[in-house]
Amino acid sequence: MTEKELNISTLKASLRGELFQQGDEGYDAARTVYNGMIDKRPVLIARCADVADVISAINFGRENDLLVSIRGGGHNAGGLGICDDGLVIDLSLIRYTHVDPEAGTIRVGGGCTWGDVDHATHAFGLAIPNGIMSTPGVGGLTLGGGLGHLTRKCGLAIDNLIAADVVLADGRLVTADERHHEDLFWALRGGGGNFGVVTSFVFQAHPIHTDYAGPMLWDIDKAPEVMQWYREFITQAPDDLNGFFAFLVVPPGPPFPEHLHNKHMCGVVWCYTGPMEKAEETFKSIRGFLTPALDFVGPIPHPALQSMFDPIYPPGLQWYWKADFVNELSDEAIRLHVKHGSQLPTMHSSMHLYPVNGAAHRVGKNDTAWSYRDATWAEVIVGVDPDPANKDRIVDWARKYWDDLHPYSAGGAYVNFMMEEGEERVKASYRDNYEHLAAIKSKYDPANFFRVNQNIKPTT
Ligand SMILES: Cc1cc2nc3c(=O)[nH]c(=O)nc-3n(C[C@H](O)[C@H](O)[C@H](O)COP(=O)(O)OP(=O)(O)OC[C@H]3O[C@@H](n4cnc5c(N)ncnc54)[C@H](O)[C@@H]3O)c2cc1C
Repeated sequence: MTEKELNISTLKASLRGELFQQGDEGYDAARTVYNGMIDKRPVLIARCADVADVISAINFGRENDLLVSIRGGGHNAGGLGICDDGLVIDLSLIRYTHVDPEAGTIRVGGGCTWGDVDHATHAFGLAIPNGIMSTPGVGGLTLGGGLGHLTRKCGLAIDNLIAADVVLADGRLVTADERHHEDLFWALRGGGGNFGVVTSFVFQAHPIHTDYAGPMLWDIDKAPEVMQWYREFITQAPDDLNGFFAFLVVPPGPPFPEHLHNKHMCGVVWCYTGPMEKAEETFKSIRGFLTPALDFVGPIPHPALQSMFDPIYPPGLQWYWKADFVNELSDEAIRLHVKHGSQLPTMHSSMHLYPVNGAAHRVGKNDTAWSYRDATWAEVIVGVDPDPANKDRIVDWARKYWDDLHPYSAGGAYVNFMMEEGEERVKASYRDNYEHLAAIKSKYDPANFFRVNQNIKPTT
């Protein structure tokens, strides 16, 4: 449908927020997402200021038969917050936080970033499990699951979700929690943006203020030894200790020492949240296993850890993602990891293995929509570079890496680490939860109105 056929003035008049259409000042900025590889041109972008705006935008989209996408923090790998030739419901103005220190909970607007939340909770000595950077949106990261520094101690972000306010495809606002719309609440915890626009989230916070955390790096020729040690160590570590494995190239600037600049290395980014007086003791065996070439692990305020990597990854870089869940790291898988991980095509490219064990394992695989509770790691291979001319290089490297390792994987992948990869891949990622999700989708969104996502198709 072209702009002219739409009654845009009606929508504009009903919004407290802003409406952008092609040619408007601000349109190009409003359609820009974090991944510089994504270049989509919506007909309209409704930057909603509140729930009433979201209801208006959904009703307008439905009545005009528009393709609709939901934009939270705009970080999705495949650019699923935005769409071509449709309507974007942009939540970036709905960005409030409200901490209840007595209950230890926080209510978060649907357009917040995790940096907003870390900032708000830290003032009360509290934290919510999220990812490993502060810039992604609460919306997309939570609804897909939410893996990060606190996964082993506190579970996934969804394991700490208490309630969500959701505007459904028919324009109704409902609250989903353990006692209301329980089926919807189950589906939201892992099922992504398939069920409606979440305008607010309520999370349970944890008393976490200062971590003993940071990266520890070893020379790349030590990678086989480090990976073999890590695969045993992390599965038996206390829940207070999280550590994700990475292949990386050391950025050429402070705080990294000059002799390591641009060096290919492997490392573990640790986050210990147990009693501070036991931190040194906890790290004794780690430091004793193999002296690291760089050891930046020490006391750090939790939000500082959460935003440590933000400056290395500003918005607008080219990103290409491939992912899998992994149960075991065999010697052969390690050999292949080292082969590809020591040939990162660019300084920003990386491979991470995020532990899924600890507290995340203690939730049953059918208790929420997030199926892979029995996996040991979520693997993500990211080809990243500022220069679009290097697109083919980063894509080729990531694909070859993934092709070699996929036979050693658990089959599916974490939906938040995937590009648009088709229906079979989505089904593989939800396994036996897919059918249940499809039934709930049929109940709440029978026309598949919300389909710009890792799509779950209604059964009817
Ligand atoms: C630099 C970087 C670091 C990352 N680190 C981690 C990490 O440590 N752990 C981790 O788990 N993931 C991580 N991710 C992946 C991240 O979880 C996904 O990219 C996620 O989709 C981002 O959410 P968003 O709101 O920013 O995305 P958007 O692009 O805005 O939205 C993505 C999708 O989420 C849905 N959505 C977003 N908000 C809402 C809402 N309020 N209501 C309903 N649906 C909504 C929509 O379906 C949309 O299609 C990272 C991504 C990047 C780019």
